[in-house]
Amino acid sequence: MAAHDYDMIVIGAGSGGVRAARFSAQRYGAKVAIIENLRTGGTCVMRGCVPKKLLVYGAHFAHDFEDSRGFGWQPGLARHDWPTLIARKNAELDRLEAVYHRLLKDAGVTEIDGTGKLVDAHTVEVGGKRMTGKYILVATGGWPSLPDVPGIEHVITSNEALDLETMPKRIVIVGGGYIAVEFAGIFRSLGAEVTIVIRADNILRGFDGTMRDALRAEMTKQGVKILSGTQVKAIEKRKDGFSVSLDNGGPLPADAVMYATGRAPNSKGIGLEEAGVTLDKSGAIQVDAYSKTSADSVYAIGDVTDRIQLTPVALAEGMALAHTLFGGQPTAVDYANVPSAVFSQPTIGTVGLTEEQARRDHDVDIYVSKFKSMKHTLSGRDEQTVMKLIVDKKTGRVLGCHMLGGDAPEIIQGIAIAIKSGASKADFDATIGIHPTAAEEFVTMREPLPAVVG
Ligand code: NDP
Repeated sequence: MAAHDYDMIVIGAGSGGVRAARFSAQRYGAKVAIIENLRTGGTCVMRGCVPKKLLVYGAHFAHDFEDSRGFGWQPGLARHDWPTLIARKNAELDRLEAVYHRLLKDAGVTEIDGTGKLVDAHTVEVGGKRMTGKYILVATGGWPSLPDVPGIEHVITSNEALDLETMPKRIVIVGGGYIAVEFAGIFRSLGAEVTIVIRADNILRGFDGTMRDALRAEMTKQGVKILSGTQVKAIEKRKDGFSVSLDNGGPLPADAVMYATGRAPNSKGIGLEEAGVTLDKSGAIQVDAYSKTSADSVYAIGDVTDRIQLTPVALAEGMALAHTLFGGQPTAVDYANVPSAVFSQPTIGTVGLTEEQARRDHDVDIYVSKFKSMKHTLSGRDEQTVMKLIVDKKTGRVLGCHMLGGDAPEIIQGIAIAIKSGASKADFDATIGIHPTAAEEFVTMREPLPAVVG
């Protein structure tokens, strides 16, 4: 084989691409170049999970100030300064970007600014220069996708929502997925009037029904309006903001209209088809269990493959690829029981099957616990914590575990280890609780719900 400039050229310096590049270079001594046309760190670090969570932390203080009164505090008039939060968040992103550059440099990875385009299955062009790689890894991620609606040019997506100069007093959010409910929580906690518009009958399609209903109830109590079973007809710009008309109502006045209607793979215009890489109907790169595309030397990981759009999944795919290509150990990622969280207010943590999924193939017992957490007995906050276990009647194995409430993501991360290890309900029962916590409820649920007859 002809010698190549690099062992691997990575297009896209997001979580997946950076992990694959670093690991391949540092652990296995591969000569790697990584190309990025935006900021190093990609969606998660620069435009997604990280800045979003910083805003969630910032917004949540509104609840803490309120709650503190029940414990004898008399906080003064708390006033939030949005530009300060955005500036502090941006400073942290700058710090993180510098960390990413340093990590890549220390690993001996060559960073290249620009848009990488495949010329053939071994050649990439960037800024008019061509380079070859034994392997090419496409890790270009995704981008918010917007439906074709009159006035769509006026809307913002999560990209812009994280950088607004002023906090909108009234915001309409279209979509009911992770991003929509998370941003609804941020803006509502900071005092905005928030309306969510969904075409389906409920938020968070694909999540367990009990969690969907419980989060909707909590958001509604907090004053988020959720209009379901409706679509936006048009968005009009007005002197004092925007007007959103719906197919069965409205118009809704707003200072900002945000769309969170899913994300599409970043696969266009980078020479994929020309290099023999097959895409599916949605533009996602088709890959095998080892992240190999239809072109032998081209691999793809992360959101551009649309397997599971989560950062830790892209990281796992990046590590697995390094083992496969340079470690002599073909490694496939195990996609079973991937835990995830929604940083809504309150949060959701989830691992394993939903009740709806489990009932398709299993005879199940369902354990549900709903209670007011200890903190809220004094704070007075009318908020329910909801926990749910789905257990296979035949084997006793816990198939799914879901929680809505404070710290749910932190709690479920631990439970995910048990579920991944195949824990049974008897193992949960044999575990001693930590008292007093909400989490102990997971090991003290004794009676399943009565079976629904008919
Ligand atoms: P999701 O796929 O989660 O949700 C999209 C929402 O938009 C759904 O409610 C969907 O409705 C609705 N929708 C889609 N198309 C239209 C349309 N044409 N008109 C009206 N509504 C529409 O996407 P998000 O944008 O919220 O997030 C993208 C991905 O990012 C997620 O899949 C997730 O994997 C990842 N993410 C993860 C986070 C986390 O782990 N905490 C946080 C943020 C994002 P319907 O239900 O009817 O299909």
